[in-house]
Amino acid sequence: MNETHDPERRSWLASANRPEAAFPIQNLPFAVLRRRERGERFRPAVAIGDQALDLAALAASGVAQLAALDACRDGPLNDFMASGPAAWSTLRAFLSDLLRVGSAHQHAVERCLIPLEAVEFAVPARIGDYTDFYTSIHHATNIGRLFRPDNPLLPNYRWVPIGYHGRSSSIGVSGQAFVRPSGQIMPAGAEQPVLAPCQRLDYELEVGVFIGQGNALGQPVAMAQAEEHIFGLCLLNDWSARDIQAWEYQPLGPFLAKSFATTISPWIVTMEALQPFRSPWSRAAGEPGALPYLASAANDAAGAVDLRLEVALQTARMRSRGEAAVTLSRSNLTDAYWTVAQLVAHHTVSGCNLQPGDLLGTGTMSGASAGSEGALIEITRGGAEPVRLPGGEVRTFLEDGDTVILRGRCVRPGQVSIGFGEAVGTVLPAR
Ligand code: CA
Repeated sequence: MNETHDPERRSWLASANRPEAAFPIQNLPFAVLRRRERGERFRPAVAIGDQALDLAALAASGVAQLAALDACRDGPLNDFMASGPAAWSTLRAFLSDLLRVGSAHQHAVERCLIPLEAVEFAVPARIGDYTDFYTSIHHATNIGRLFRPDNPLLPNYRWVPIGYHGRSSSIGVSGQAFVRPSGQIMPAGAEQPVLAPCQRLDYELEVGVFIGQGNALGQPVAMAQAEEHIFGLCLLNDWSARDIQAWEYQPLGPFLAKSFATTISPWIVTMEALQPFRSPWSRAAGEPGALPYLASAANDAAGAVDLRLEVALQTARMRSRGEAAVTLSRSNLTDAYWTVAQLVAHHTVSGCNLQPGDLLGTGTMSGASAGSEGALIEITRGGAEPVRLPGGEVRTFLEDGDTVILRGRCVRPGQVSIGFGEAVGTVLPAR
């Protein structure tokens, strides 16, 4: 930890110092954005209070000559992500210094601020490859029980961080609206499948992991270096068509059931900002440890991230009546069976090369207790137990016009709480 984490540090921007602020000076997450409806180019920014600090404008202002800042003159963030932890840390310290009470450059920096209510976002990186994992053993067991009642958790689960290669072209940033997918579905009792719009559309509450520095093809990343390759975390909704999934997933795993849309939050919270919220990596009694290539003392001591997650739903009717979204579940990234470092070490152990801007998903983050299930299929027991919403509506799966909102926040006594903002997505009718 360093002075950028100092809980006493305050910004000259009053909105950053409010206790409920998602973006205090201790956070400084990165996004790519522009002012709405002005035809501007997208460029990198960090969030501070209710404002975005435009890094392209800051670089052009001549406040400082800094290579790390020059890498942020244009979006997306891939070049800056590739520059590595020393450059990330240098820019964070520089920005923290500019934004803190007593900065000599307040007036120059004020001219580079854009109100968050006036911006629109882009996906923050060119995402070459996207891999989705399955790191909640609670989710894996809940889902496995529905798909294979006699054999819910396959024997490899406790040893292999299970994942599959997802689709990067359909990843969108918060605000994404997508068409309900159609696909092959095998109706119960039918002789052959039909092509039809998905009737069991679901969300998945996940955390996204953006890769910073890549690794050369053929050179695995060891656990000791794994986090040096992680730029930061965001929220990720892996929209899932459960009826298409049930018919197609064997033997090679998810394909079209997951390929039609994935929504991420615009802000990437850096690993350095998350430093005060690290936790020991722990598993329930009786669970095995990890093979040596997935183990390290540092991972045992602080490999997990204490990130509180929640998912909320707002139906079209609730929206038309001005009713707020209703929370469906709450969980925590500490519910994961594998840490983010283990995901990187495992992904590269074959020699597979990760590249700057690649995205990993943790998999649906469900906890052990009721109320912590990160997908509707778990909450409704496969659609058997519908959810009753406060306004009287009922859901087994998502309906057209439904908006799903993911939220995340790190809270720890003695530290300034930091937020992830939101990942918001809306279902449009099938074509
Ligand atoms: Ca998933």
